[in-house]
Amino acid sequence: LTTPRLHYPEGLAEGASVRLEGPRAHYLAHVLRLRPGARLWLFNDEDGEWAATLAALGRQSATLELGRQVRAAAAETGPVLHFVPFRRNRLDWLVEKAVELGVARLVPILTERTVVKLENPARLRAIAVEAAEQCGRLTVPELADPVPFGNWLAARDSSRKLLFADEGGGAPIATALAEAGQPDLLTGPEGGFTERERTLLLRADGITGVTLGSRILRAETAALAALAVWQAICGFAAESP
Ligand code: SAM
Repeated sequence: LTTPRLHYPEGLAEGASVRLEGPRAHYLAHVLRLRPGARLWLFNDEDGEWAATLAALGRQSATLELGRQVRAAAAETGPVLHFVPFRRNRLDWLVEKAVELGVARLVPILTERTVVKLENPARLRAIAVEAAEQCGRLTVPELADPVPFGNWLAARDSSRKLLFADEGGGAPIATALAEAGQPDLLTGPEGGFTERERTLLLRADGITGVTLGSRILRAETAALAALAVWQAICGFAAESP
């Protein structure tokens, strides 16, 4: 059984004592069923990962004693994924998979054919934390606030390369990734991009349309596939010594 990992956003330092209250304490005692003396890892984006020991368990509280740092803080080598929000259960699934696949940041874009609101970002952020704890990464990607397509396109940093998954055609994604360094990604909504949106994207500096093959993929499939290919071509290369 692997040592449990907990994302703990407050400061972590050698010898510190950490007190967890409420749901986090309940999770240790009743979900992980840990007892005093149990070992854990605590991590956050700024401080990296630290060894910890469960020192005491109360009804709704837990006290952890920190030992030494086991991994220095490290950003995740992954793209920013821009996606158009879609139905809740599939979106929950995509956020979890994107975190496992090393996404650096998640940016919801509102296009003309957006059909759902991002009604509960707190739930998605909790899913991102759990996925980060499970997969061993040291950061929890930020889920940005939704931004309308036009505002996003006008404000984006055109020096950053971006590949947009274009079901209308484009370069094979593997070829584009091999040429583009470590670009960001954009996938569309269930109803696709409008012709107007596609034209604006194809005209924009730094943006390239790419195909994911001849089949029409669901929005969440396209995002997952693009992330997996990104890691296979850009990610491991960046991580391997
Ligand atoms: N135009 C699609 C249709 O005719 O059903 C609707 C959009 S598709 C369900 C959702 C999104 O996934 C698209 O906007 C695109 O970003 C991406 N996508 C799906 N299949 C793709 C493919 N073969 N190549 C590139 N992107 C694709």
